[in-house]
This record gives sequence, structure tokens and C-alpha cells, in this order.
Amino acid sequence: MSGRLAVIGLGPGDDRYLTREACDALGEAGALYGYGPYLDRVPARLGQTRHASDNSEEGARAEAALRHAATGASVAVVSGGDPGVFAMAASVCEAVETGPEAWRALDIVIVPGITAMLAVAARAGAPLGHDFCAISLSDNLKPWEMIERRLEAAASAGFVIALYNPVSRARPWQLAKAFELLARHLLDRTPVIFGRAVGRRDESVTVAPLAAAQDIAADMATLIIVGSSETRLIARPGRSALVYTPRAVEKVSA
Ligand code: SAH
Repeated sequence: MSGRLAVIGLGPGDDRYLTREACDALGEAGALYGYGPYLDRVPARLGQTRHASDNSEEGARAEAALRHAATGASVAVVSGGDPGVFAMAASVCEAVETGPEAWRALDIVIVPGITAMLAVAARAGAPLGHDFCAISLSDNLKPWEMIERRLEAAASAGFVIALYNPVSRARPWQLAKAFELLARHLLDRTPVIFGRAVGRRDESVTVAPLAAAQDIAADMATLIIVGSSETRLIARPGRSALVYTPRAVEKVSA
């Protein structure tokens, strides 16, 4: 009997952000694997076992879930946001690529979720209205020099940049350095959006110009969107400003 492994995105916050597909997939699983705080978001169901692990143990978690599914069980791995964005879906694929042949025969399903970048963008307006990219500032899985090169390349090419994993206790100075590099290519007034715990009770969203961005507090629950030279801010009476990036860039004839 072939087992099943679903890798499920829970969205950025509470269950309003859970898709119907994700909800159904959670209901079908006999066992849930994931980082403890993500598992805590899923309501308990009779007969469903839970296997919490630490955030740093993604490879081991993927392997444990695959081993379990290979016994013929219906297993789910949960991720915050979308499972394919800096998250478990890639860890599962990597484990399948390097693991036992039998894992390739499993029914593997990736269930998408709303990624943090989209939830934060929606709060601020439409900052991702034109070309954009996403960069994780964590140097746990890649060299810091590569992150610096990518930041500069993205800013100089005119991309709006979503920064995941901006700060952690082990990475206290990287964000300030990132703003410094970006400032070489972008105007001081470039809008920067800080979305913290978006979709949760303690959500907050702050917009600041790049020149003042280093004064805004950010932590592991913050997603930052740095505008491009096209990104603008519309002030509104009694309401927060709308930040958007126009769909079109003026064409200059050659
Ligand atoms: N798979 C997740 C991202 C994992 S990386 C997704 O698709 O959203 C973890 C980073 O995501 C955090 O450091 C933070 O930058 C961002 N993030 C996750 N949830 C968030 C939320 N509710 N509000 C703001 N940022 C969030």
C-alpha cells in the first residue's frame, strides 16, 4: 500500500488564512509533523498523532515524515505561510532525491498557502505591482557574501525586494548592513514596509523611508518589503498611506 505525504501551507496567521484545500488535507492526515508553534495552530483531531520538532531540524523532520508515510500511512508536514517559500517542501524534495528509492513511489502533494510577502503587501497597498524578488537574509544556509551580491543586483536592477528572515538572535547586524547596501542604489525616500506577525492578533505594519529604516524594530516575525525607484506613497486623510508600485514603467524609445 502506497503512503501519502502532504506538505501543507498554513498561511501567515490564524485560520482565516487557511485555504479550504489545506483544511481538507489536514483532516485527511493520520499524523502531523512540524515545528511546535505551527502544529499548535492546527485544532486537535481524535486519533491524529503529532510529532513536533525544533525549527532547525527541517531535514530530519522531512525524513521522519517520509519514513512514516512509507509504512502506508497518510502523513502531513505543516509549514507557516507557503510550504514552498523558504520552507519544508524543498526539504521534503531534497530528502526524496537523496533517500531510499521507495520514497519516490509515495503520493506526495504540496498544498500552497499565503506567503508572508503577499499578506504584508496587501496590508500596505500594492507594493508588488511590478517586478519583484524575495531574498532570505539568513546566512545559515548560504554565505553572507552571496546575500550581499544578490541585494545589490536586485536593487540595481529595479526589483522591489521582499526580505524574509531579516533578524535573529544569532544574526544581529545583517539587516543594518543590508539597508546600507541597498542605500547605494536607492533614494533615501524609497518606501520600506515592515509587517510583523501579519494575520495574528499582535499584527503591526509600519512604513518608513529607507533613510530611517534602520530605526524601525524588526525581528524573526517581520517581513520587510523594500520598494524600487518606482514605488510610491499616497497620503490619505485619517488613514494610513497606500504604498504601491505602478504596473507600467515608461517606455523610452531607442
Ligand atoms: N514559508 C514561510 C516563510 C518561512 S521563512 C512563508 O511562506 O511565509 C520565515 C520568515 O517569514 C520570517 O522570518 C518572516 O520574515 C516571515 N514571516 C512568516 N510569517 C510572517 C507573518 N505572519 N508576518 C510577517 N512575516 C512573517
